[in-house]
This record gives sequence, C-alpha cells and structure tokens, in this order.
Amino acid sequence: MAQVMAERAATSRRPAGASIRIRNARKSYGTTTVLEHLDLDIEAGEFVTLLGPSGSGKSTLLNAIAGLENLTGGTIEVDGRDLTHVPAHRRGFGMVFQSYALFPHLTVAENVGYPLRIRHLNTRNRRARVEKYLQLVALDHVADRLPSQLSGGQQQRVSLARAMVFEPRVLLMDEPLGALDRNLRQALQFEIRKLQLEAGSTVIYVTHDHDEALSMSDKVALLNGGRIVQVAAPPELYRNPRNAYVAAAFGETS
Ligand code: ADP
Ligand code: MG
Repeated sequence: MAQVMAERAATSRRPAGASIRIRNARKSYGTTTVLEHLDLDIEAGEFVTLLGPSGSGKSTLLNAIAGLENLTGGTIEVDGRDLTHVPAHRRGFGMVFQSYALFPHLTVAENVGYPLRIRHLNTRNRRARVEKYLQLVALDHVADRLPSQLSGGQQQRVSLARAMVFEPRVLLMDEPLGALDRNLRQALQFEIRKLQLEAGSTVIYVTHDHDEALSMSDKVALLNGGRIVQVAAPPELYRNPRNAYVAAAFGETS
C-alpha cells in the first residue's frame, strides 16, 4: 500500500505546491540573535526570494523551513499543518545548494533518478521521468556520464533536475547560481522558472543579487539583520518602499 501511495504521489500530474505560513520565527545562538520575530506568508505555487546582504539570516531561515535547523521559537505551517518539529527527511522538500552535492559515483541519470528510487517509483516510470527532466535542463545527451565529466553549469543543472524530478511541493534553493558566471546564471534562471512551472512547486530562493531577485520572483522578502523589512512583488518595492532601507536598495531616485 505504501508503495502504491508513493507511486501515485510521485506520478500524479502537476501537484500543487504547498502554502507556507511562518509566525514569530526566532533563532539565536547563545546570546547572538540571528532571526527576530519574523512572519512570512507564501502562497501555493509562488516563487519567493529571500534577498538580503551577507549575514542577514537568509540561510538560517531557509534551513529552518527545510527542517535542517531548529527555531528557537515560532512556528512553520505547511498547507495548514504545523511542521515546526518535523525532521527534514519527513518534510519531503527539494533542496538545491550552491555546491552541487552530486553523488560522484553515480551517472547523471542515476543522480537525477535517485529521489525517485528512494520513493520506490518503478523502473519504467522512473526512466520516463528522469528523461523528461534531463530534457528540460538540456542534459539528455550526457545522461550516462559521471558528474566529474561535466562543467560546473552542467553539474548545477543536474542538481536542479534532481531536486525537481519528484515534483516536490516545496523547493528550497540557497544561492544555487552563486558559483556560476553571469551568462550561465541568466540561462539557468530561465530554466529554474521553466522547471518550476512544470513541477508546480512552491519555491523559496535565497540570493543576495538584486537583479536575480527582481527578475525571477513573484514576491521578494527583503531581510536585514534577521528581520524581514518588506515583502512585496518586485514593482511594489520600487513604487512603495516601506522605509529608507528599502528605498536605498530599490527605490527610484528622482
Ligand atoms: P546569510 O545566509 O544571509 O548570509 P546566515 O543565515 O548564514 O546569513 O547567518 C546569519 C547570522 O547568523 C550571521 O551573523 C552568522 O554569523 C550567524 N550564524 C549562522 N550560523 C551560526 C552558528 N552555527 N553559530 C553562530 N552564529 C551563526
Ligand atoms: Mg547564506
């Protein structure tokens, strides 16, 4: 039964992404406060960027949503369910980091198929799904190579495909393009959106790059010093910056 359920969950078409509700999130290490009284609402299927300078708490917040770090206080609800104390592996989210973290001894196709294998998808469905996502990231021609035989951009495409292939309800990305050069970044930004539309996932995307945040997001959450300064759609940040900090970051200078 578990197998059938997993099969169905993994093969159903265009699953809707999940909604996320964060309330009064706090995180401190000893006497150092890293996140303070932080609220954030994300709608199902939205692409939300956490944007802010280095040290503003973006990764800490993302890792707390992933379940890789415990909050000191506050709650995280996903589709109305309190997941604050649910461990990472039981949240079923996809993750992409700046470092590609591929399995070096597995081929490209095996890396991409790995999340489906641990979800017990049968071989035929697995192969079809892997093929589809490898095509989406334009890597079907290197399916049988090892990661070490690929360029950095190709390796990151593999890790994107691997994170999306099981069409997670939530996909978390921490500066996934940070190690790549500018042209490649733009190409991959486009591919990430394409993959998101295909998988239907809710995406939370960490970056410190304003242009990237503005061009990719439905909504930007601007962080500074462990607080969210403003959450808004990109045009709104320009037109109605909430305070001098946002205005300096985004506002029209007229
Ligand atoms: P960002 O991703 O925006 O660069 P982080 O979330 O990584 O920021 O870090 C936010 C703050 O938390 C930083 O000041 C960092 O030094 C601090 N921090 C992160 N992890 C730890 C830790 N394990 N112990 C103490 N301080 C930490
Ligand atoms: Mg970070």
